Amino acid sequence: MIALPLASATTTQHGSHSFIHSTGFVVASDTAAALAVVFWLGLVIWVSRDARRRIGEPFLRFLATVLGLVPYIGPVVYLLFRPSDTLEEVRSRRVELQALEQQLARSQPTCPRCCAAVEPDYLACPVCTATLRQPCASCNAPLEPLWQMCPHCATAVGPSQVDLDAALTAETKMIALAPRAEARAADA
Ligand SMILES: [Zn+2]
Ligand SMILES: [Zn+2]
Repeated sequence: MIALPLASATTTQHGSHSFIHSTGFVVASDTAAALAVVFWLGLVIWVSRDARRRIGEPFLRFLATVLGLVPYIGPVVYLLFRPSDTLEEVRSRRVELQALEQQLARSQPTCPRCCAAVEPDYLACPVCTATLRQPCASCNAPLEPLWQMCPHCATAVGPSQVDLDAALTAETKMIALAPRAEARAADA
């Protein structure tokens, strides 16, 4: 009766020793497996999020997500073939290009009466025959309505040649037309 507990105690001691040993091993391998699964899940989520940022086509996005599910190799293959730009980058580049085009359209001079595109050296509008500029009396260079002196030959523009009122009215019209031209460019 006394020997039994002793014997059981030694067995327990011996058993617990191998138990601790095996538990350590099991815990270590379990931890490694759990880490591998967590890392794999992290990669799956990363691929799915990245594909959403870069791919607009729903089917291709789905394919990328499925590829991301392939343990470890899938995300590497995805990295090799993913689009280099995010959708946000593509969108902002398009907006920048549109702004640049609008700026170009704005810098293109137009006739103050009929809005036809004209060149900066036109004396009259070829569409509605409105007088746009007067030629310089000395060198015939086209003069802007507000200029008081020819920039090419330094001849003063005579008061008979410049109708300040008409010129200012034309300038006001140009300014008033500018937002409409902008709106048209934005619609296009
Ligand atoms: Zn015109
Ligand atoms: Zn001149």
